[in-house]
Amino acid sequence: MLSDKHYQALRSLPAVNSLLQAPELQGLIKEARFELISRISSKVLAEERQKITEAAVPQATTTTEILAKITDKYHKLAVPHLHSVINGTGVILHTNLGRAKLSTEALEAVQNSALNYSNLEYNIIEGKRGTRFAHVEELLIELTGAEAATVVNNNAAAVILILQEMAQGKEVIVSRGQLVEIGGSFRVSEIMAQSGAQLVEVGTTNKTHEFDYERAITPNTALLMKVHTSNYKMVGFTKEVPLDELVQIGALHQLPVYEDLGSGVLYDLKKHGIGEEPTVQEAIKAGADLVSFSGDKLLGGPQTGIIVGKKQLIERIKKNQLARALRVDKMTLAALEATLRHYLLNEAPAKIPTLRMLLMNSQTLEEKASKLYDLLKDYDQQAELRIIDGFSEVGGGSMPDVQLPTKLIAIKPHSLDINRFESAMRLPPSSIIGRIVADKYLLDVRTIEVEQFTLIKEKIDSVL
Ligand SMILES: *Cc1c(COP(=O)(O)O)cnc(C)c1O
Repeated sequence: MLSDKHYQALRSLPAVNSLLQAPELQGLIKEARFELISRISSKVLAEERQKITEAAVPQATTTTEILAKITDKYHKLAVPHLHSVINGTGVILHTNLGRAKLSTEALEAVQNSALNYSNLEYNIIEGKRGTRFAHVEELLIELTGAEAATVVNNNAAAVILILQEMAQGKEVIVSRGQLVEIGGSFRVSEIMAQSGAQLVEVGTTNKTHEFDYERAITPNTALLMKVHTSNYKMVGFTKEVPLDELVQIGALHQLPVYEDLGSGVLYDLKKHGIGEEPTVQEAIKAGADLVSFSGDKLLGGPQTGIIVGKKQLIERIKKNQLARALRVDKMTLAALEATLRHYLLNEAPAKIPTLRMLLMNSQTLEEKASKLYDLLKDYDQQAELRIIDGFSEVGGGSMPDVQLPTKLIAIKPHSLDINRFESAMRLPPSSIIGRIVADKYLLDVRTIEVEQFTLIKEKIDSVL
């Protein structure tokens, strides 16, 4: 029941028409369209009405406040919502912050493909229709040693597509120890159900043997699948059937073997003492019929799902109707092609930001840290500033056990609460994402570019 006070408050709200004549809104009406400002005004008024109706003790909002809300709502729409942030977390493939950063060359390729017409699906030599995969397929074959390759929207899409094409209405054998969930609720078991393939779990959580696969094979088995458990690690009393042995079982029963590699590295990080990720080349060499992996994890390219393997199977996958629905656009292909070419030209560690940050040596980290420290020294009256040792993470669900030694700038403001400091750093303009550990705000220099240091200084200047 609404009281007299409610009605009074409702009546005191201005009408849309009178709001739209207010001098405060004339600038906006000129800048945007009249209809937009009118719609925003109606929305703000409706929100105010609802607030009054729902309040136990209603309070009318003044016209000045309402005008401010309209202006605020308009600015929220009019300024870019997706904007860059400075990643001070030290998590290299931060899924929430956009995973892999592209190289300059990949960016130029994106820009070129976006601003111009291109030979996306046009064979320039023959003057007739071509295929969009031609731009990356040869590169992928060369780099991985596979017979054929194709690309879809992301690795989750690749998994669904492969399962549907290879095993719809049939059985797929997977080890219980590999039924993983990846961030963003990607579950192997559920993806399997979605694709129409029937999951046959074998082994136990910690151990799966060759004979577990052998015993589960029936005339209805279509595929042996291995999932690289990239985001968690089992230690202790464990056994997994290695890919080459799974390939032998597959050959014996004429069943194709598919490995979902997850991250999919082309550049062997093991050789640099970083993690134990198998490379795509190794999976192909071990005889996998199909391998899929992400483009924007350790590969360091755009969001894509890359499928490589036997030509006959890839041809089938390309023809699946789902492949059309999951296809990548020209900007993605342009970025992927440029990224793959870095590997071909042996310049991947220097040019691809993900690899550059992963391989950053201690001397560079120390130099970066002292450079940032020197810039921020001016604020040592307002905050305690120190360079400390810490660890960066790979992120993106890759190499959970790898800790990369790094240098951090630790900031402890003298008078400002640490949580308020952190949130002020986070808010635009120049959003800086750091973390709080033991009452100190930490910035990892590994994931921050030197060119961003002045922005950090300016931000701290405005916050402290
Ligand atoms: C990350 C991951 C996926 C999903 O890949 P997206 O490219 O994020 O869709 C699938 N399988 C494994 C093993 C993964 O690590």
